[in-house]
Amino acid sequence: MSIKLIVIGGGASGMMCAGTAANAGANVILLEKKDKLGLKLSLTGKGRGNITNSQPNIKLFIEQFGRNGKFLYSAFNQFFNKELIKFFEDLGVQTKEGHGGRIFPQSENAWDIVDALRKYLHQNNVHIELQRKVKELLHFNNEIRGVITDKGNLFADKIVIATGGASYPKTGSTGDGYKFAKDTGHRVNPIYPVLVPLELKQDTSSMNKLKLKNIAVSVWKKDKKLAERFGECIFTDFGLDGAVILSLSRELKQEIRSDYLTLKIDLKPGLSDNQLHQRIIKESNIKGKSCIGSFLKSYLPQQIIPLVINRSNIDSKKQVSHLIKEERKRLINTFKNLEFTIIGTRPISSALVTSGGVELSQIEPKTMASKIMKGLYFVGEILDLDAETGGYNLQAAFSTGYLAGKSAAKKRT
Ligand SMILES: Cc1cc2nc3c(=O)[nH]c(=O)nc-3n(C[C@H](O)[C@H](O)[C@H](O)COP(=O)(O)OP(=O)(O)OC[C@H]3O[C@@H](n4cnc5c(N)ncnc54)[C@H](O)[C@@H]3O)c2cc1C
Repeated sequence: MSIKLIVIGGGASGMMCAGTAANAGANVILLEKKDKLGLKLSLTGKGRGNITNSQPNIKLFIEQFGRNGKFLYSAFNQFFNKELIKFFEDLGVQTKEGHGGRIFPQSENAWDIVDALRKYLHQNNVHIELQRKVKELLHFNNEIRGVITDKGNLFADKIVIATGGASYPKTGSTGDGYKFAKDTGHRVNPIYPVLVPLELKQDTSSMNKLKLKNIAVSVWKKDKKLAERFGECIFTDFGLDGAVILSLSRELKQEIRSDYLTLKIDLKPGLSDNQLHQRIIKESNIKGKSCIGSFLKSYLPQQIIPLVINRSNIDSKKQVSHLIKEERKRLINTFKNLEFTIIGTRPISSALVTSGGVELSQIEPKTMASKIMKGLYFVGEILDLDAETGGYNLQAAFSTGYLAGKSAAKKRT
């Protein structure tokens, strides 16, 4: 008799797990509460489907997850990026590499990834039930028995929780799995939105959609620099978004919640104060008659110039040649330290990833099985694991899903 397995959640990890377990001989039911599989997966890489990263070194890949990353060694040793790319190629999806090692389907359409996984499920005779929501787990004597759903109870030998985190709830990831984990005696570490835009105290609406490239952004608690990133950011009507901001939101997830922090943008990180000073002096000899507003156009995008002039406390109509030493000093200081106050992050519904979740010490890393409840497995974002942007989070979902699928298909001992 083959193992009867229920996988809860038809996202990246759940689909990989269900297909793999069925391929290994299990009798699998996949329960998904939405009317489609892979809704969140379809949004990844801005709809282009950033399934993994090309980083060939497992150790360096794992560094992107921070301290908890070492939990992933077993999963990655069994099924890593090379295997994932081959898996999709075998299902007819060719891939290509983009910026920062990001791997996308050739078509740059994330739905091709979802379709390939759906094909894999059908090929392996997984029984899929859409619009079927699991409400509770059934267990007895520390052994899993089945699930209570909105359409009746189902019984199984083993159950995999692949319900994802709590971000982008419209895709179905509403954090249900945290309750299932707690109800079965697992510790769930506090969850935080990460890879999420930041809200600022200052009104930034006049700069909405302004993208700044090649800038340095640092975050400070009083005189202590907490973190710094180099790259690009985008102003929004509530604050800041963009690659460096998402990354900072992850590194400072706790600090941002406990205090108002100062964010400084260095608009010219390639130039020292002195170099900037020399350049301004040199150019003011040539364009001395220009007012400061038009003079700054060769340094900055138009949308940010009024703010820089205002922060430097200079009359915008003043001719450059009439600037006094103190005014030039203030201008340079604004260029190098354009300050804002972080009042928080956008809500978890806007976060790309949920940080925190099921405590890893309760999970067997070689199988993804719970050490507390027999026959229960956890995979994907519900685990207390999260990484930078770049395809790392999806690789973790696919690898843990694969490992649990292989392990759960084996008979109970
Ligand atoms: C906008 C966006 C862009 C992203 N871009 C990237 C990227 O480019 N690269 C990358 O690596 N990662 C990216 N991520 C993160 C990545 O999508 C997730 O880490 C990954 O999808 C997690 O997979 P999962 O299977 O654990 O959970 P999910 O994909 O969230 O799937 C969970 C599934 O479980 C279902 N479910 C939940 N509760 C129940 C229940 N009670 N009963 C039945 N079904 C239930 C949900 O409906 C959902 O379908 C992005 C995330 C977002 C939101």
